[in-house]
Amino acid sequence: MELDIHGLRLLLQYNKVIAFNKPYFTGNETKYIEESVKSGHISGNGKYTKLCQRYFEEHYGFRKCLLTTSCTDALEMAAILIGIQPGDEVIAPSYTFVSTVNAFILRGAKVVFVDSRPDHPGMDEDAIESLITPNTKAIIPVHYAGVSCDMDKIMALAEKYNLYVVEDAAQAIDSFYTAKDGVKRPLGSIGHMAAFSFHETKNIISGEGGMLVINDKSFISRAEIIWEKGTNRAAFFKGEVDKYGWVDIGSSFLPSEIIAAFLWAQLENLDRIQTRRKEIWNCYLLELKKWAIQNSIQLPKIPDNASNNAHMFYLVCSSQLERDSLIANLKLKNVNAVFHYQSLHRSPFFMDKHDGRKLPNSDRYSECLVRLPFYFELEIKEVLQYFQKC
Ligand SMILES: *Cc1c(COP(=O)(O)O)cnc(C)c1O
Repeated sequence: MELDIHGLRLLLQYNKVIAFNKPYFTGNETKYIEESVKSGHISGNGKYTKLCQRYFEEHYGFRKCLLTTSCTDALEMAAILIGIQPGDEVIAPSYTFVSTVNAFILRGAKVVFVDSRPDHPGMDEDAIESLITPNTKAIIPVHYAGVSCDMDKIMALAEKYNLYVVEDAAQAIDSFYTAKDGVKRPLGSIGHMAAFSFHETKNIISGEGGMLVINDKSFISRAEIIWEKGTNRAAFFKGEVDKYGWVDIGSSFLPSEIIAAFLWAQLENLDRIQTRRKEIWNCYLLELKKWAIQNSIQLPKIPDNASNNAHMFYLVCSSQLERDSLIANLKLKNVNAVFHYQSLHRSPFFMDKHDGRKLPNSDRYSECLVRLPFYFELEIKEVLQYFQKC
């Protein structure tokens, strides 16, 4: 009998599938959702929305935060706010998620893609200036894996050419950049605006969810209007106007209180979540270092002026063949590792719009990058145990 149970346990353990991602629930999510349901107020901009927004403003010094239903929505708001018109150009990395640029395309912008850095999937800051034309309106840096772009270089270009900077900080919560003045600033606080994501694959989640951060205060009052369907409803509730009406374009960008209540439970545990994620990340780095060198595999690079928020752990193989066989071998051992973005300049939607420039680093990350399982409850020893047999 003993033996049978032992055997069964071994069998179960052997068949255990390690997911790539698993959302972490802190325990209070349903409690706060229930509370908001019982309060009778579940539409947007209520108690939990305000708690979350204030938390971000106080904790990170963001000037103004507006929760949105996604990072995609926050980027769409940013595109409206900076007044993107047909014919305007925006410069963005090709190695990113579609929303980074889709938001601007929706307003009629022409996207000019920039390559990734040789040492990091983030945009090559030194390749931006030659792409700037009189039509360029904005630069959209993406802090890939929560690792900052070189914001000194990007902000200097923005100033020189009078451009807006909208940070795609979807992956970058609780990550920092130390500027050349020596000041350490949270990502999302540097550009004119920034967009965060709380999608279930990010560090802090609410299912779908996001946030627009506004650092340039001249955008704040219009942002509240666009957020609330083009009405000055937010100003009305603050007692700033005595009735509200239609004053501008806008959409329904604000999330319901149910989403905000979920997010609040996550925020209460932000430090604990981040501590655990960093432990996992450091463990991967330490344990895979030797294996990576032996197999000519590039480990993630964190530049000196950037911090690591442990959003993801990725490897860069030396060819697509090697990357695909690593994924296949891990899969045989029930470990789900996955590749990531495919260069947008080569996507079915964009390839005939691209100007033909080669973006070899972006293509290399598309072909050679693999992300390892990463989530709060990951039993990393199990991954490593299988991994070292690859
Ligand atoms: C996740 C992600 C998005 C989209 O976030 P949503 O909240 O799902 O809209 C945009 N850009 C980057 C870089 C992302 O990682």
